[in-house]
Amino acid sequence: MSMINGFTSDDAARLSETERRLIERRERLLGPAYRLFYERPLHTVRGEGVWLYDSQGRRYLDAYNNVVSVGHCHPRVVEAMHRQACQLNTHTRYLQEGILDYAEQLLGTFSADLDRVMFTCTGSEANDLALRIARHYTGGTGVIITQFAYHGVTGDIAELSPSLGPAMVLPSHVRTVRAPDAYRLGAENVAATFAADVRAAIEDMRAHGIRPAAILLDGIFSSDGVLPGPQGFIAEGIALAQAEGLIYIADEVQPGFARTGEAMWGYVRHGLRPDIVTLGKPMGNGQPIAGIVGRSEVVDHFGRNMRYFNTFGGNPVSCAAGQAVLDVIRDEQLQQRAKEIGSYLLKGLGQLAERHELIGDVRGAGLFLGVELVSDRVSKQPAAAQARQVVNAMRENGVLISAAGPLENVLKIRPLLAFTQEHADVLINAVDTALSDVQR
Ligand code: PMP
Repeated sequence: MSMINGFTSDDAARLSETERRLIERRERLLGPAYRLFYERPLHTVRGEGVWLYDSQGRRYLDAYNNVVSVGHCHPRVVEAMHRQACQLNTHTRYLQEGILDYAEQLLGTFSADLDRVMFTCTGSEANDLALRIARHYTGGTGVIITQFAYHGVTGDIAELSPSLGPAMVLPSHVRTVRAPDAYRLGAENVAATFAADVRAAIEDMRAHGIRPAAILLDGIFSSDGVLPGPQGFIAEGIALAQAEGLIYIADEVQPGFARTGEAMWGYVRHGLRPDIVTLGKPMGNGQPIAGIVGRSEVVDHFGRNMRYFNTFGGNPVSCAAGQAVLDVIRDEQLQQRAKEIGSYLLKGLGQLAERHELIGDVRGAGLFLGVELVSDRVSKQPAAAQARQVVNAMRENGVLISAAGPLENVLKIRPLLAFTQEHADVLINAVDTALSDVQR
């Protein structure tokens, strides 16, 4: 059986000639590290609002993309970028108002103790910078992460991303803790289990002569299988780490910018006080802008000893995009929308569990939801093949989601913040149909 970029000849037989040529060119030009979504990859040519359009003009409801979070090609963001690109676009070593106005507004969305911002281009760079700052401040090297974490692609941060696969060998200064999985560990145990794991990780580092520097966590534990958890469930573990002198880095690349509905930032749901927050993905609605926000005591310690210059980080066009995103979130009340449509979806997907035995758990915070599929509700045996079938069947039916978790058996549903109830109904129906058709 022949393979193109990981697709079997069966899949390839269903591809159009154009799609086949594009896959071959990608493989020849970009190499094997690039992976495509879906058995029949999507050839996208246009986006508008919550919809993506393929080369045949067919539209797909985007329930996955948290880069263009406020809507594909949102006119206000496009207009702001265009206006700024026509006027000036350079690096950050001149005096300019745009970056400062944006910095003020962005910091205004955090509590007063988080009073410094530094800009990067990607979430990986933001985590990399946060790690350098934490190490500089503490004089330590050790880092605590979850077992199936993803934090990005720089050398140091890939080493904190075990979900990259078994080839990613974790270095000796890293300790993993179990993801706080309320479904598998039990909601009543998860807080204490997480705290005990954090304590053990710190003790083990010290026993091996490693000075701890940071605990780095994605507050929605996306790659660990989408674990929004009961509110406050990681607070004890994090308080313990902070009391032991570790810097708590809240990776808000996934839950940030209003997605979880309760607040602008995901950690607020859990009543946490991060030392550094890292931002990315939806920050510029597709324009590469990311960064860190931190306590000045921690950030300035680094800045006094180290020059920081990031050629493209925080350039005028990126800041214009970032500013427009904040304006749209406020003016279109997207946080409120994420809360309302999120709970509507949680309820609707939860009702599907009454009819579909495959659903083991439905969880979510705002517009970040996980539907865990299991082949048996008692043993909780992960149903990864079925999750893959559901994702691909939905793609064929015009609704885009993905699967996550160590065993890829959790449907990862992350709609655009611009979703309405009507869109939510389309999504719920598509999950329902795909689950009905799935092979047992
Ligand atoms: N942190 C988390 C939690 C992420 O999900 C990602 C990207 N998927 C990153 C960091 C890295 O962001 P980027 O791809 O912009 O480097």
